[in-house]
Amino acid sequence: MQKWPVGVFASIDAGLGVKLEVAHELGIKTVQLHTPAKASRTKENAEAFSAKLNEYGIKVTCVFLGFEGETYETIARTAETVGFVPKATRAARLAEAFEIADFAKLLGVDAIGSHIGFVPHDRASEDYREMVETIRTLCGHLKANGQRLHLETGQEQAENLLAFLKDVGTDNIFINFDPANLILYGMGDPIGSLKKVGAYVRSVHCKDGVATTGVPGVDWGREVPFGQGEVNAELFLATLKEIGFDGPLTIEREIPEEPARQKAEISQALDLILSIEDKLFA
Ligand code: MG
Repeated sequence: MQKWPVGVFASIDAGLGVKLEVAHELGIKTVQLHTPAKASRTKENAEAFSAKLNEYGIKVTCVFLGFEGETYETIARTAETVGFVPKATRAARLAEAFEIADFAKLLGVDAIGSHIGFVPHDRASEDYREMVETIRTLCGHLKANGQRLHLETGQEQAENLLAFLKDVGTDNIFINFDPANLILYGMGDPIGSLKKVGAYVRSVHCKDGVATTGVPGVDWGREVPFGQGEVNAELFLATLKEIGFDGPLTIEREIPEEPARQKAEISQALDLILSIEDKLFA
């Protein structure tokens, strides 16, 4: 029996996800979408894309923010460039996030995902206060659109993430839980973290990884196909059942430079998820 809709992270023209055609060929019915490039975010494109989604019977469950200048090449560069942390681009990115949310609304999508960046840990600091204010402003725009914000996990430990959610304090801020990121960034045990933040989890990435053999938090771990790393796929899904999760499971495998392998590994992940669901909900 299938409990959760299974999906895949997809891209139209920007980001590292699979093409929509690949999702269709694999029989997948939900996708999270990396935000299309700025020039593509028009009303006409939204209509054309919606028509294609209808033809394939695919629903977009979340649109993920992405910005020019972000890089994940090292953990340090991630901290410097990603999301709303860099001050030089914060106002422009916030304005662009509003535009992306409005485009998502044209597609009928009610969740916006975001790597907001590394949240400062000192809750008394000016930097922290500014991040809280920025995300509160973003949530205000989303609220007016009837949308939620799903924060991607990985860059904070569960306790820090919970404190941040409470400090933002709007009723439309939730979590997109990515178990692999906690391993890749050296931010703790994914299963224990999932139990701590469970009440806020509205979407998840089925992604896997192995921890660095270098310095955790400084050196990257390595992403591997779902089910082949340190996440423990079976326990991850069992824990989602335990916390009462009822959103979509979205497979994330970011190797667009190897499309054939990407498709094969997503197909394997799909089979694995369905077989675990069969056991969990037998
Ligand atoms: Mg992710």
